[in-house]
Amino acid sequence: MVLVDSHVHISMKDYDTDREEVIRRARAAGVRLMVEVGYDLESSERAVGLARTNEGIVAAVGVHPHDAKTWNREASDRIEELAKEDSVVAIGEIGLDYYRNLSSPQEQAAAFRAQIDLAARLNLPVIIHERDAFEDVLSILVDAGAERLPGVVMHCFSGDWRAARRCLDRGFYISIAGPVTYKNSKFQEQVARLCPLDRLLTETDSPYLTPSPFRGKRNEPSYVKDVTEHIARIRSMPVEILGKTVLENAYKAFGLDEVKDQVR
Ligand SMILES: [Zn+2]
Repeated sequence: MVLVDSHVHISMKDYDTDREEVIRRARAAGVRLMVEVGYDLESSERAVGLARTNEGIVAAVGVHPHDAKTWNREASDRIEELAKEDSVVAIGEIGLDYYRNLSSPQEQAAAFRAQIDLAARLNLPVIIHERDAFEDVLSILVDAGAERLPGVVMHCFSGDWRAARRCLDRGFYISIAGPVTYKNSKFQEQVARLCPLDRLLTETDSPYLTPSPFRGKRNEPSYVKDVTEHIARIRSMPVEILGKTVLENAYKAFGLDEVKDQVR
């Protein structure tokens, strides 16, 4: 079985004692591609370092809405510099988070727009974080011309099918995470079932959002197997075919066609 984890943060200190083991377990589970996603300058640097030294791991660099208040000329220059590294396949995670509002909505919008523009300039896809801000995220994406980007990935999608449909209509990818396995995950199950197969991605968002039956423990990329198995069950399809299809989607979304053989 082959699998993809489109969103991990395994360069975080949570994995300092056993990172090699975690990567080994992911590979043993069949995970062929992991995207290590930055959320500020430091984590973006770490993502590039991790991807540079590990086959099958690629990086995304960017400033999360929580840290949007740190977005300035210097940050922009550094993210741009990092984004030009070979191992970097996307700008992210970027977006809006009105649930925690750790930066003001104005700061969040400014950093979000600037990073969409950066992705457009470098012809890179974007990985979108959205929480309690769907309408504003969608209108900024549309307004900033995100449809011209090579890919838009809606990370850990938690909206309903109507919201998903509006993303799909614009050619975006829907990435499904661990909450799809929770008993109260009505929307995620519906979206995972109805999403066209060629627009679907899987992720863990490790170390967060641990899927059942490991809920409560630290998450890790090998658990994307449980996310994928759950989606396969919902869709009544063989997990091997789903895993392979979703992996292909990830190669396409992140423009990895040329290095596909390498990653495999
Ligand atoms: Zn994340």
